[in-house]
Amino acid sequence: MADYNYDFLVIGAGPAGEAAAMAAAKNELTVGVVDNQKLLGGNCTHKGTIPSKALRHAVKQFVHFNSLSIFRSIGSAIALTYPTILESAKTVIPKQVELHSEFFTRNRVTVHHAHARFIDKNKIEIMNENGVRDIIHAKNIMIATGSRPYRPDDVDFSHPRIYDSDTILEMQETPRTIIIYGAGVIGCEYASIFAGLGLKVDLINSRESLLSFLDGEISDALSYHLRDHGVMVRHNEVIDKLEASEKGVTLKLKSGKRIKADALLWCNGRTGNTDQLGLEKTGLTANHRGQITVDHSYQTEVEGIWAAGDVIGWPSLASASYDQGRAVVANIVGDVGHYIDVAPTGIYTIPEISSVGKTEAELTSAKVPYEVGRAFFKDTARGQISGEDVGMLKILFHIDTFEILGIHCFGAEASEIIHIGQAIMNQPGEANSIKYFVNTTFNYPTMAEAYRVAALNGLNRVNRHN
Ligand SMILES: Cc1cc2nc3c(=O)[nH]c(=O)nc-3n(C[C@H](O)[C@H](O)[C@H](O)COP(=O)(O)OP(=O)(O)OC[C@H]3O[C@@H](n4cnc5c(N)ncnc54)[C@H](O)[C@@H]3O)c2cc1C
Repeated sequence: MADYNYDFLVIGAGPAGEAAAMAAAKNELTVGVVDNQKLLGGNCTHKGTIPSKALRHAVKQFVHFNSLSIFRSIGSAIALTYPTILESAKTVIPKQVELHSEFFTRNRVTVHHAHARFIDKNKIEIMNENGVRDIIHAKNIMIATGSRPYRPDDVDFSHPRIYDSDTILEMQETPRTIIIYGAGVIGCEYASIFAGLGLKVDLINSRESLLSFLDGEISDALSYHLRDHGVMVRHNEVIDKLEASEKGVTLKLKSGKRIKADALLWCNGRTGNTDQLGLEKTGLTANHRGQITVDHSYQTEVEGIWAAGDVIGWPSLASASYDQGRAVVANIVGDVGHYIDVAPTGIYTIPEISSVGKTEAELTSAKVPYEVGRAFFKDTARGQISGEDVGMLKILFHIDTFEILGIHCFGAEASEIIHIGQAIMNQPGEANSIKYFVNTTFNYPTMAEAYRVAALNGLNRVNRHN
């Protein structure tokens, strides 16, 4: 049994763990990372963001190819199987692993491929896949163990027709029909992927609208476009029982409905990876979702133990996890670590959705006097040229100060387009103004035109009132 000693030890090599390890190395701390997967990148690279986005990209190309008349002159529309699309999507994973591995090597961070468990607040026992145990001591330890799909006891995930968001990446058939239980971000994204591939999809939502944290108009647009692509969206429905046989699955809902399909994808919640960590040896406890509580410096209730990424809950995004990991190190070395309380949403449905700031409902309930400026992608040159003309950009701004309060977008590249507005929104004082978009020259034709059109639309509406 070997003994290791580091200034800073990170458990988990996903976005939070990697960002923290790199920042610590650059601050000349000795750093060790323990991850229980054979390859670096965390769940983000192997089971979450990367494979699902690559899958979605492949499906989008397939849909685009089949829908463009120009390609019909060279051949008829094609059909592709899920395993073919999956195989093509998975080619990005080794490239990502190589990239992440290079970061660790270049920054001389030692990686232990093993499972970590606390012995006390400064001491970890690690065990690799051959059963070899070692001990690691560290003054500061960061938990970045991520999350996994929540699996209720009464659903048989060993059945070959029942999948979660991890196992769907191993599905070796193309069902004709699929039920997606849970209409959160992951459920909606997979509904788009399967509908794009031509499957009949039933999307079961326990709430009365899709992704209720979104601006109402955007949530409505998502429902409309999913339905337009053939997804049966069922709101206010809760599982009663799930039966599976060789032939298919039957989902019985509390409302009395029975839905049959070839397969079911369970997308109902996630659990923080804390149950195998030996937290009890440190005095820490996780909540019922396996998540750990931290303060605004990302320190847990135990001094010297930090946590970041999915294991602390909201917003459970790779984007925020990177920033949280860096913030932990800033706090350890005496800089002020930035606490992430606002993160843009990027939802890779078809069409894509992205937003930052307040929704109309939030501003209305806070009695903020605001106005709305809208631009439809179909009315922009870039949208017409690209053929990606489904979409809208909506800017909410203060009627007196012109301060931008929220930006909501759906359509192709929405998650990129949002950043233009986000940059202006983050400017101090009067520099955060919708007027920026009418007083600035943008490249043409680009989707930045949508900001100008939306700004003019909103400002004209204010001027009409004056
Ligand atoms: C289907 C899907 C799609 C997503 N799409 C997006 C997206 O488009 N954009 C976005 O920003 N986010 C997306 N996310 C969320 C994103 O993947 C997560 O927020 C991100 O991976 C969290 O990073 P993390 O650093 O907390 O940990 P993770 O990426 O979860 O990595 C944690 C690592 O710790 C390891 N580990 C766990 N326990 C131990 C232990 N005891 N010892 C050693 N190692 C351990 C794990 O095996 C893993 O390698 C998606 C997630 C899913 C599931």
